[in-house]
Parts: sequence; structure tokens; C-alpha cells
Amino acid sequence: MKTFFNLIQEVQKQGKCHHCGGCVSFCSAINYGALKFDDTGRPCYSDIEKCVECGLCYMICPEISELDKEIKKIAKWSAPAGRIIGTSVACAKKSIVRKRGTDGGVVTAILLHLFKTGRINGAIVSKNSKKGSIPWLATSKEEILDSAGTHSDTSHGMANFADEYSTFSPSIEALKEMRKEGIKKIAFVGTPCQINTIRKMEAIGIVPTDSIEFCFGLFCAGNFIFHAKEFHQIEDKHGFKYKDIESINIKNNFIINLESGEQKIIPIKELDVVKRTACNLCKDFSAEYADISFGGIGADKGFTSIITRTPLGRAVLAEAFEKVLVSYKYEDNPKYATNAEDAILKASRKKKDKARINLKKIEEKGVSVIG
Ligand SMILES: Cc1cc2nc3c(=O)[nH]c(=O)nc-3n(C[C@H](O)[C@H](O)[C@H](O)COP(=O)(O)OP(=O)(O)OC[C@H]3O[C@@H](n4cnc5c(N)ncnc54)[C@H](O)[C@@H]3O)c2cc1C
Ligand code: SF4
Ligand code: SF4
Ligand code: SF4
Repeated sequence: MKTFFNLIQEVQKQGKCHHCGGCVSFCSAINYGALKFDDTGRPCYSDIEKCVECGLCYMICPEISELDKEIKKIAKWSAPAGRIIGTSVACAKKSIVRKRGTDGGVVTAILLHLFKTGRINGAIVSKNSKKGSIPWLATSKEEILDSAGTHSDTSHGMANFADEYSTFSPSIEALKEMRKEGIKKIAFVGTPCQINTIRKMEAIGIVPTDSIEFCFGLFCAGNFIFHAKEFHQIEDKHGFKYKDIESINIKNNFIINLESGEQKIIPIKELDVVKRTACNLCKDFSAEYADISFGGIGADKGFTSIITRTPLGRAVLAEAFEKVLVSYKYEDNPKYATNAEDAILKASRKKKDKARINLKKIEEKGVSVIG
């Protein structure tokens, strides 16, 4: 039976660990308590003696292919980028949601609607801290609205800028709180790797994933870890200060919106050095296992591109269009949704190609050469 010991050898030491937290969350949820996160957010043994060698942390790791066939079958996955029932482009009907949202505020509008109609009692989302994005179990409409956007909370000030600032939010950790609080009926919002882990947990019936009603995935070009020195270099080069940031949006570029209304656009390529190693090896751009996937690519400013992937996702979106979303006007450009889908498929292909090249480099020369 392969265990966490094998995850260290096959995933961590190869630089493939996404820090998704699946292994630690499972081991803690079931009260084995053999694993914990170290100070850098990396999973490690807390007490190796407590490991009962159940092998489940190994099976649910997104980098391990043992359950891939199973989750592909359940999701009716097909090449090149997973099942696509439909693609649309929309924004939230309410101006406050549009204003607070990263793109069109569609994710938040749907979460608020599901909450209002009693289909969920909360949502696992993200908020900011001085160390970057952190998981948040939002359990009221105010909290769901507060979670909108990809914020940069500068209230901590640059003087308190932590040694490390990460855009990655280890959202699976919030499952622990959900279980502790006994909250049922949750929507999970996360990156493609996190959705993959959740689907593997669901496939083998791991508690508390039975309480996750909806999986909403965000398109993902990668996540970044900045150290203060690197961030100062970016500030100097692009002429802004951290304290003046209102929000961050990750697309083909890393977009910094300043409180003054000015935008600083940093090409993603320029940030390759601060991209997490595992993100250079990741093949999933468009959250291929989600019920619905969301991103800004292919949509005009202020709109969200949406891919429905499951019948459940389709039903949720159809209702949302009736109640809380406004569709991009088909008459203005009949090809708009098709063009958005093309842009998404192109970004997916690019990410898969890059991952393949980087994996080959690792196999041939070792972790340090990728980028
Ligand atoms: C790290 C990251 C990389 C991304 N890369 C791309 C990209 O390359 N191309 C692209 O088109 N789109 C990308 N997106 C998605 C895009 O930024 C928007 O999240 C998406 O378009 C939904 O917009 P919205 O206005 O509908 O969402 P909103 O209504 O603003 O809701 C967004 C939801 O996502 C949650 N969230 C924010 N940050 C995180 C995080 N780090 N982890 C988990 N949940 C989070 C928020 O709490 C909120 O619930 C990325 C998102 C993230 C978080
Ligand atoms: S007890 Fe199971 S889940 Fe925990 S570390 Fe050991 S093999 Fe992994
Ligand atoms: S990728 Fe996730 S499940 Fe795999 S070792 Fe890293 S944190 Fe654990
Ligand atoms: S690029 Fe891949 S590994 Fe990195 S955060 Fe996004 S989905 Fe996860």
C-alpha cells in the first residue's frame, strides 16, 4: 500500500506538490492525525507513528493517477479540455456584485442566489490576509459578498508585508472547519487542482465531501509566491506601491488595479520566477472536473466566461440567468460565446503543452530547470 511516504518521493521531491492540502485534510478529517502543514504550507508528517497506512492520502493526490480513470468516467470527461455542455458570457445583474467581482461577479451572484434559495448554507471561498489569499467558509450573504474578487488587502501595510505573499488559497483546508461546525450543503470555489482533489475524495466517499453540493472552478494560469524583495523589484519596475493596490486579476497578464483607477499590466512570463513550481507542471487550465468553470479570458472587461460541465451546473446556470445574471447580448455579436470557447481551448492547449515540456525537463535534468 502506498502512503504519504510515497507522496514525498513521487510528488514533493519532484516539485509537483500543488499544496492543495488534500492529503493533510483527509488525514485530519478522519482523525488519524499523522500529517500537518509546515511553516511554508507544505504537507509533512506531524507524527509518523500515527500513520495507519490506509493509503488514501496517496490516492486522492491530484498528481497521482490511480483514480484518474474513475473521475474521468464520473465526469464524462472528453478531450481536449473536459466535458463542455455549454459556453456563455455574462455578468451579475446587481451593480454592487459587478463592482465587487473580479470580472463579471458571476461566481458571487450564483453563490448569493444559491444561499438565498436555501440550496447552500455556506461557501468555501477565499479572502485576503497579510500572507496572501486564505480559505474562508462564508456562511452569510454579507460574507459571500465580501469574498468577491481577488483582493489585495493592503490594510496591513507594506511594513508588515509578510516574508512570503501567496496568491494561492489552500481552500481544501476549510473542509476541516466545515466538518467541525457541522455545516452541510456547501458550494466549493477553487482552482482546477483543488476541484480535482475534491472529485477524487468524492469518488471514494471521503467525509465531509458528501456535504459539497456544487463545485465551482476558476480558470487558472498559475499561482505566485512573492517574497518582499521580489515584490519591491516589481513595484520599482512598474511604478506603483503595494499600499495603493485595490485588487489583483490574473489572466494572460497579472493585472494590478490601483485605487487611483490606474492599471498596471505585468506579463505573466515576467513572473515565471515567482510561479509555484507545481503550476509549471499543471495541465488543467479550465477546471475540467467542475460543475461550472469561470474565467475572464475570452470575455470583455466586466464579464465572465462560463463553461457548464455537468447537468447540475447547467440547471444552476439556467436558473441564475433567469434571476441574477445578465447574458452578453447575442445580437451584438452572435459569435461571442464561440470565440470565448476558442480562447479557453487555446489557453488549455498552451498549458498542457507547457506542462509536457516541463515534465520532460524534470525527467531529464531535475526540478530546477523548469519555467
Ligand atoms: C489564482 C487564480 C488564477 C486565475 N487565472 C485565470 C486565468 O489565467 N485566466 C482567466 O480567465 N481567469 C483566471 N482566474 C479566474 C478569474 O480571476 C475570476 O476568478 C473568474 O473570472 C470569476 O470571476 P467573477 O467576477 O465571476 O468571480 P467573483 O464573483 O469575483 O468570485 C470569485 C470567487 O473566487 C474566490 N477566489 C478568489 N481568489 C481565490 C483563490 N486564490 N483560490 C480560491 N478561490 C478564490 C473568491 O473568494 C470568490 O468567491 C484566476 C483566478 C485565480 C484565483
Ligand atoms: S494514515 Fe492514511 S492518510 Fe494519514 S498519512 Fe497514513 S496513509 Fe496517509
Ligand atoms: S498535491 Fe495536494 S494531496 Fe498531493 S502531496 Fe501536495 S498537498 Fe498533498
Ligand atoms: S496552475 Fe494548476 S497547480 Fe497551480 S494553482 Fe492552478 S490549478 Fe493548481
